[in-house]
Amino acid sequence: MASILDLREKRDEYEKNIASSSGKTLITVRPNYPGSDKRNIHSNFVSFSLAYEVESALEAEAIHRTHDEEGLILFLLSDRSKDVVKRTCVDIEDSHPLGRLADIDVTDDEGSLSRTDLGLFPRKCYICEDYAAACTRSARHGYNEITKFFSHTVERYLTDGTLAAAIEKLTSFSLLAELCRETGFGCVNVESNGSHKDMDFWTFTGSIRTVSQGFGEITSVGANDFYNLRKFGLELEQRMFNATGGINTHKGAIFIYLLMLQGLLESSSYGNVKEEIKRISRPVLEDFGGQNDSNGLRAYRQHGILGIRGEAAGGFPKLFGDYLKVLEEDFDLTRLSLAVMSDADDTNVIHRAGIDSLRELQSKSRLAQRGAIDTGALESWCIDKNISTGGSADLVGATVFAHLIKNNYRKLKGEI
Ligand SMILES: [Zn+2]
Repeated sequence: MASILDLREKRDEYEKNIASSSGKTLITVRPNYPGSDKRNIHSNFVSFSLAYEVESALEAEAIHRTHDEEGLILFLLSDRSKDVVKRTCVDIEDSHPLGRLADIDVTDDEGSLSRTDLGLFPRKCYICEDYAAACTRSARHGYNEITKFFSHTVERYLTDGTLAAAIEKLTSFSLLAELCRETGFGCVNVESNGSHKDMDFWTFTGSIRTVSQGFGEITSVGANDFYNLRKFGLELEQRMFNATGGINTHKGAIFIYLLMLQGLLESSSYGNVKEEIKRISRPVLEDFGGQNDSNGLRAYRQHGILGIRGEAAGGFPKLFGDYLKVLEEDFDLTRLSLAVMSDADDTNVIHRAGIDSLRELQSKSRLAQRGAIDTGALESWCIDKNISTGGSADLVGATVFAHLIKNNYRKLKGEI
């Protein structure tokens, strides 16, 4: 494991090089998280959200990311001067609900600029309001106190505001958690493009912003039956294709999340969400008798596999059942991915590599669950076979979303 100090040195070097070779102002967004490994679903979301704020406020361009013990770090370039950029970033750190949880550094070819360089006060500690440097020096707050505060702040932010805003943030959080899995098993993730040549991490971050915004709109479109919901889903797919230059990043996710959302909206209790999804999804089985074509429908015609349509028609019993149980044991998304891959009939895998490869993937995933195969070796096997486990990835993200619905049900329904 690389030490944080080594990584920091490497990053300083990178920042200096880019700032001097680009002639622009470099902005670095990183989580303000304690400990020797800062990667997790909460801290990743903080970096992602604040980088988006920086991008929008300064017309900055995201150019690079690292995902290691320092957490998810995003690097952006802006044409504006260092002073202007720093003032805007200080404003984001001070006013965005997640701003205190990140450090936004600003550098150009002459070096970095601090708050005190601009005549501003240094940053306050996010727990006790003393100066942050004083608390760090005296180790005033324990690891558990800080990490708990961090995750609570993020979860409060996710459910704040209107229902539409909460849905946008919760779905974006879930899709990002899936993208930032440490192993993608042939899918694009934060570390590699997996088996794909036509898309990368940035294709997905752009898609997440577009698609999650669309999910928020479900509260006002009045898609009260399956056919209206499908019409809305097709429009959202078109927006996704516009955002990605025609690449399918989240088609499967749009299908699953819209049904989950409609189930949430029409349910009377958390326990009733599954039943509502089941009721709304009933017409989905008509697809099997129709003329339309898709990976899922071909898998049914050739192999009798019901796939994600079958799951939806049952109210996603595994997603709200076994998968959710695995997730909530320790929030290890690699472990959850293996559980899903060993169980789900992922029609993306059949499409790219055939039914025999799907069965082999399932048995290899079971071996990996028991520790008999290394997850890195399984990832290499997927890439060698040109397999992308996209259907399983959708279910992993959707399981995170199911957890968020469960934990926040009453607040989302306006009962708290
Ligand atoms: Zn403090």
